[in-house]
Amino acid sequence: METESTSGSEPSTSGAVSVEGLTKEYDDVVAVSDLNLSIKPGELLVLLGPSGCGKTTTLRTIAGLEHATEGAVHFDDEEVTRQAPQRRDVAMVFQSYALYPHKTVRGNLRFPLRKVGISEEVATERIEEITELLEMDEHLETRPAQLSGGQRQRVAVGRALVRQPHLLCMDEPLSNLDAKLRVETRAELRQLQQRLDITTLYVTHDQEEAMSIADRIAVMNDGHIEQIGTPEDIYEHPTNEFVASFIGDPPMNMLDPDNVTKVGIDIPAGSLEVPATVGVRPEHIYPATADGEPSTEEQIGVERWSNPVSFNVELIEPVGRAYELLLSRDAFTLTARLRTLPEGVHEGESTSFVLDRDRLMCFDSTGKVIDT
Ligand code: ATP
Repeated sequence: METESTSGSEPSTSGAVSVEGLTKEYDDVVAVSDLNLSIKPGELLVLLGPSGCGKTTTLRTIAGLEHATEGAVHFDDEEVTRQAPQRRDVAMVFQSYALYPHKTVRGNLRFPLRKVGISEEVATERIEEITELLEMDEHLETRPAQLSGGQRQRVAVGRALVRQPHLLCMDEPLSNLDAKLRVETRAELRQLQQRLDITTLYVTHDQEEAMSIADRIAVMNDGHIEQIGTPEDIYEHPTNEFVASFIGDPPMNMLDPDNVTKVGIDIPAGSLEVPATVGVRPEHIYPATADGEPSTEEQIGVERWSNPVSFNVELIEPVGRAYELLLSRDAFTLTARLRTLPEGVHEGESTSFVLDRDRLMCFDSTGKVIDT
């Protein structure tokens, strides 16, 4: 993980960041288009979206590493759009880290503080506080070569945080770590960020990482933001088909309403608009008994069921603590996710399934959610 610190001439105030009408063009590529965003003081906001949607460009433009083609960036009340990155009081953490090999952990953390001219006493205090939080206090006099990859990464994060910047920008900071370490490190990172109350902009394409670390997520697509909200909001109340299908693993089943009615499932009424697509999350599909009652214990809170429909169970795949099932009926296929596999559900055999009717989502032809 490489860190890049820029010293601010102004002391940090509350830590708010706002972006208005940001557009960034590279020749004929529009990387970011008329983007609006505000980050609250102390908040961790994640930019999440598919490759090439403009996450890194947005982050780099806010940090001042790229010039905005149009639009404005404010840190608190101060416009920083034309300010050089060194003046913005931003700390960056990237995926590839580069610590000074000849300096100890203490030396690496001391370095960014030299530029801001704080006293030796305050510097020592901050370094000790950060290394303690990072559980690296026993390694203060160690050089990077003697540390593990995960420890080096923590030093890199510490180096970015020790200056207490107005904004911490992180671009896929954990992608060089193995899966287990990634999960551990992201929890630590989150604790540290909350403890130090540093406004943070975090880029990832990993939705699980985003869901676990964010106060709010901005889902990006094709240079703009599709929706901003808490992880729960984005998952439970997506405002459009893109967000609904991007968030969730396995993804939401997106169905042709004609096929839905053909197999005997009622589409929620309540709106005059005829949906172009009906969505159902894999975890809202349940096996049913012969008389149409759900046969698992997972349905707590479900109030209304669709009619039971018989599907052929094409495939049962155990995934961690759940099972993913591929169901088919004529040309109609669904993915279901069950936490337990009831007796009587077997690959290659038919079983009745019911859907949680209140959780079906309807989308219009532009992809916008229809209130039902
Ligand atoms: P990834 O997750 O793959 O890193 P991203 O969401 O961060 O993707 P960006 O790197 O911001 O996306 O790129 C957005 C678009 O801008 C892409 O089409 C990319 O090819 C283009 N782009 C980015 N940087 C440049 C550049 N320096 N010159 C030309 N085009 C660029």
